[in-house]
Amino acid sequence: MAEELNPFKIAQEQLDEAAGIMGLDRQAHAILREPKRTLIMSIPVRMDDNTTEVFTGFRVQYNDARGPAKGGIRFHPQESLDTVKALAAWMTWKCSLADIPFGGGKGGIVCDTKKMSEKEIEALTRAYARHLGTDIGAAVDVPAPDVYTNPQTMAWILDEHINITRKVQFGSITGKPVELWGSEGRMDSTARGGMFVMREAAKMLNIDAKKAKIAVQGFGNAGKYAYELSKEVMGASVVAISDSEGGVYDPDGLDLQKLESTKASTGSVMNYESKNAQKLTNDQLLQLDVDILIPAAIENQVRQDNADKIKCKLLLELANGPVTPEANEILFEKGITDLPDFLVNSGGVIGSYYEWVQNITGDYWDTDVFYAKLDKKITRSFNDTVAMQKSYADKGKKINYRMAAYIIAVGRVAKAMKARGWY
Ligand code: NAD
Repeated sequence: MAEELNPFKIAQEQLDEAAGIMGLDRQAHAILREPKRTLIMSIPVRMDDNTTEVFTGFRVQYNDARGPAKGGIRFHPQESLDTVKALAAWMTWKCSLADIPFGGGKGGIVCDTKKMSEKEIEALTRAYARHLGTDIGAAVDVPAPDVYTNPQTMAWILDEHINITRKVQFGSITGKPVELWGSEGRMDSTARGGMFVMREAAKMLNIDAKKAKIAVQGFGNAGKYAYELSKEVMGASVVAISDSEGGVYDPDGLDLQKLESTKASTGSVMNYESKNAQKLTNDQLLQLDVDILIPAAIENQVRQDNADKIKCKLLLELANGPVTPEANEILFEKGITDLPDFLVNSGGVIGSYYEWVQNITGDYWDTDVFYAKLDKKITRSFNDTVAMQKSYADKGKKINYRMAAYIIAVGRVAKAMKARGWY
């Protein structure tokens, strides 16, 4: 069973641990423990039956010392202020580790889009954008899609924002449709970035890419592209994949087209058939004897109760928060290399950054330029993280890669705050 975890408490505890290891200034630490700005909105929307429903919306601008706040907008029935605050804190560290000129932010609305019509979703989105007003913008806070929001949602927000500001500035939001100067490479940039990290980590761990066996949990944007790109980037083969219903394992490898058609016709990849295919539960998939495990679905999948059974050499956190802090410790003791989410999935926000740069400059690049820049940037983040971990090991202090990444990210934000005279 998943433990009851307050995500913001986890985010604060991770910061506290990093602050202790790196000897962070007490004042900088105090500033970074809480968001700079929190907006809570009460949003009335006229529904299709002509009654008015009131929705709660949030936007948290956690820190903007290094640049405008940056982070997605989630539409979710269980959305809470603490979740949004935690995700905004993690965005701050993600943008800092990636060394892009953004701070961290996140937004959300408590709503169940599955029970709403398209017209109601549009009305809610536009009302949220009007409530945000000039509190978002290319130089203020740049939102993007997240859970149950998509390029169309971003287009509606952009349209409202243009009407409010009377400025046609496409850089005020990212993850837009390509017709509104969204970026072609953005769709797969999260997984592509993760695959560049996987390539570098495999080299470091002497895992032979071509012979490596990979299991992927999740068959959505992150998981499906991770499947596809692990072949393209590394020549490696995915032997197991899953969705919310369950998974499938075939030691001979899996065929993407067949997975897609199986999912379309039966509702789940678990019904994939081949000579050696075996059905799996999601928990069994996590415990497979593979070289590389990629959780790319939801949070809290590797926990205190199953961490001991994980057998991979390399765990790439492509999802946000798939490994709980307790499990983190267990994996560390077992000698499994667990690379943290805010490094592994930072390709998404790096892709958003490239969209913003192109919108602001009006200079649009080919996708091969986009991918080459992404590769260089995320590879540097990986190398920085490994070097930080090694510098502590050389001093006789063993820290995990999450802490190494935290120390880099927090250190950069603290330096920017110091230069701006915040402490
Ligand atoms: P998605 O909605 O496209 O796909 C989610 C997948 O997870 C689906 O295949 C679904 O069937 C599966 N799933 C749901 N519940 C599950 C369960 N209990 N067990 C196993 N599988 C389950 O979402 P996505 O965009 O692929 O995001 C996946 C993860 O990656 C999330 O944690 C997200 O925050 C993170 N992420 C995504 C991006 C991005 O650009 N898409 C960027 C950064 C981080």
